[in-house]
Amino acid sequence: MVFDLNSLVRENIRDLVPYSSARSEFSHDARIFLDANENAFGSPLPADYSRYPDPLQKTVKKRIAALNNVRPSQIFLGNGSDEAIDILFRIFCRPGQDSAVICPPTYGMYEVAANINSVDVIRADLTDAFQLDLTAVKESIRDDTKLIFLCSPNNPTGNLLDRELIVELLREYKGIVVVDEAYVQFSRQLSWTASIAAYPNLVVLQTFSKAWGMAGLRVGIAFANEQVIDLFNKVKPPYNVCTTAQRLVLDALDRRGQVEQTVEHIRTERSGLERWLSGRRSVQKVYPSDANFLLVKVKNVEPLYRSLIEQGIVVRNRSSIAQCDGCLRITIGTPEENQALRDAVEAYETNSIY
Ligand SMILES: *Cc1c(COP(=O)(O)O)cnc(C)c1O
Repeated sequence: MVFDLNSLVRENIRDLVPYSSARSEFSHDARIFLDANENAFGSPLPADYSRYPDPLQKTVKKRIAALNNVRPSQIFLGNGSDEAIDILFRIFCRPGQDSAVICPPTYGMYEVAANINSVDVIRADLTDAFQLDLTAVKESIRDDTKLIFLCSPNNPTGNLLDRELIVELLREYKGIVVVDEAYVQFSRQLSWTASIAAYPNLVVLQTFSKAWGMAGLRVGIAFANEQVIDLFNKVKPPYNVCTTAQRLVLDALDRRGQVEQTVEHIRTERSGLERWLSGRRSVQKVYPSDANFLLVKVKNVEPLYRSLIEQGIVVRNRSSIAQCDGCLRITIGTPEENQALRDAVEAYETNSIY
């Protein structure tokens, strides 16, 4: 099918005259800046934050582009990837008219963002093996379906979605296919960023919140073809990534080796915990994971969950989610934290009949 971006975009967004900030109208060097109503006397802080940040985060994008073998114009940076998800709805989905497809069990924000934007959500559940059900996805697509959200590795199930199935969808569907790669660094699979040139309808989401260890800074990335990124830039708030976040992301990019080390560490801890949990009598099944968490089906979820909390350990109870009944999602912690978890599960087993 032919991908026609213009016919996919909401008319009001296509015709939108974006806000023109002081810094986007004049971004060159000058001696004195009296154009943005900033306070030239500075901030009441040790460092100076009186100036607005670069609205297009050019320095950061240049570095991310080089590292990912894409062009800066194929990158959007947002206040977390949650901002990118919301902007996708606002670019493509007419409130009260259009729809988006999600594949549960999956990340909850797709549906919340859809609801906030008054967009219909169509569910094409994953299979029992938590794989894409391509027939179900295709059947769920309506004329007004503008977005399909795929999450790989998927949250909360931890597994990768099959590459061939995603390729088939990218080829046959004329709307936008979003592949959320929040956990890609924990898998050994090639990032979908390598495919944005091949598929004009592909949007890849990544984040600095998980492997990069910077959830508090709120920086997310969308990779896509330049025309789609232009639309992101039209819709986003002008100064959506603050000065501090931009600077610290640059610093972190200089220390990639450290991140690779912690990712390796987390993978090792994940294997150890997976093996240990698989042998527990309170555990029914540990799902294989390509992320920094394990989905664990347990025999009696409520008492175990409560017991862990009483012992000071919070995990995510996912048992109310369809296809995840009896399941806890456990983030991989430090070796000490994982040991504390093991001790707590043992204490629970000693004191319960399960
Ligand atoms: C954690 C998570 C995100 C969150 O991203 P932020 O960049 O922190 O907003 C996005 N997608 C998935 C699947 C996640 O699990």
